[in-house]
This record gives sequence, structure tokens and C-alpha cells, in this order.
Amino acid sequence: MIIMVQGIEIEVLKKQIKNLHLSVLPPNGAVRISVPATVSDESIRLFAVSKISWIKEQQNKFKTQLRHNEREYVSGETLFIWGKQHYLKVEYSNKGNGFEIQGETAVLTVRKESSARQRENYVHEVLRGYLKTEITRLLPIWEAKTGLNCKRWQTKYMKTHWGSYSKKTGSISFNLQLAKKPVDCLEYIIVHELGHIQHRNHGKGFIEYMDKYLAYWRETKDKLNGLTLDFIE
Ligand SMILES: [Zn+2]
Repeated sequence: MIIMVQGIEIEVLKKQIKNLHLSVLPPNGAVRISVPATVSDESIRLFAVSKISWIKEQQNKFKTQLRHNEREYVSGETLFIWGKQHYLKVEYSNKGNGFEIQGETAVLTVRKESSARQRENYVHEVLRGYLKTEITRLLPIWEAKTGLNCKRWQTKYMKTHWGSYSKKTGSISFNLQLAKKPVDCLEYIIVHELGHIQHRNHGKGFIEYMDKYLAYWRETKDKLNGLTLDFIE
């Protein structure tokens, strides 16, 4: 369910929980409220109205961060790959693009007149390659451990989710940006999304499943969602 409060779109998820839980999510400040199934729509609206100034404040923070994060793909910028920071060194060539990691440096070869967007698209394709290699390595290991198998998977550039599972297609989607995070974050998403093959939501059964297979999943989740601003009533 989506509600509108003072021009702000809020996604409402009814769950088996005890308290209302409000989140403003990176990178764009999407707003989500998780609510116990018994709470009335009017109470949800009143709750949202009471938090509206806090929501706007968080959204402004994200807007500022986004501006700071806009990249031009020029020498000296930093780029994270598997959790490690690399300094970008841009070289020019008309003989095709290239990308190579040399210690702390990531050498990006592009046409001199290429736009930031074109360079970004190319870097994303490189990251996609890295991510696919790791998923191909790790997914079968976790499928064997958990006994849960996905029919197919894909990598996608997503703005609000690190991963998702579609029951309809039996397919897991992995966020392209996972290639920027430490590899244990990818592992957490793999185990998490495989878990959704058996568990629809994040209830007791799901938590037990996560505890069984990844003892440190909470820490990894926090690391991954370092930018998530949560408010617990
Ligand atoms: Zn989930």
C-alpha cells in the first residue's frame, strides 16, 4: 500500500511485528513504514504526519550526499571494488575501452571525448563482470549448503534493493553495486535471497534460517546498510 503525506509517497508494509518502524532509504530517500497487521490506516497516517519533519530532514541528507557522489570518471576520483578503495587513473585511447586494477590504482582507458555517462556505463559493465564471476563461484556453494536452488539469476542496477527474489519467475536479482562492497556482503545477499525461496517474509522461520547458515548475518547486514537511517518507535 502506498500513502501520500504532504506530497511524500510512503510505502506501507503490513508485517507480523509489534511496533511501527519507519525507514528513509538510500540512495533517494524512499520512505517505508512497516506496521503490525492490526494497525488502522488512520493510525498509520497520523504516525507518518507526526514524523514528517524528520522524514524531510533525512531526505535532504540523501540529496546532499547524492550531489557529493556525482562522479565524472576523471583521474583522482576513488572507486570501491569489493570493499577496497582504488584511485582512478584515466588514460585515453581510440582503440577501445579498458579497465585494469594495479594495486591501489584502477586504470580506466576511454576515448578522450567520452562523456561521464559513457564512462560510467563502461565501469558498470566491468563491475557487472566482476559480480557475475563471484556469483557464479558462490551461489552453487550456498545452494548446496542450504538445499535451496534458484531457477535463474541476473544482475541489475537497482536503487533501493541489494537483492530481490521473484517467486513468479524463481529468479534472484543482484544489485550491480554489490561489486563495490566487501564480498561477504554479496554472500549475505545470496543466503538472504535463497531464503526467500522457502520463506516469503522476514518472520521467525526466516530468522532461524539466517542464524543457521550465517552466524554473523546481522553485522554484515548493518555494514551493507550503513547508509540506511532507521527510526524505531
Ligand atoms: Zn528479504
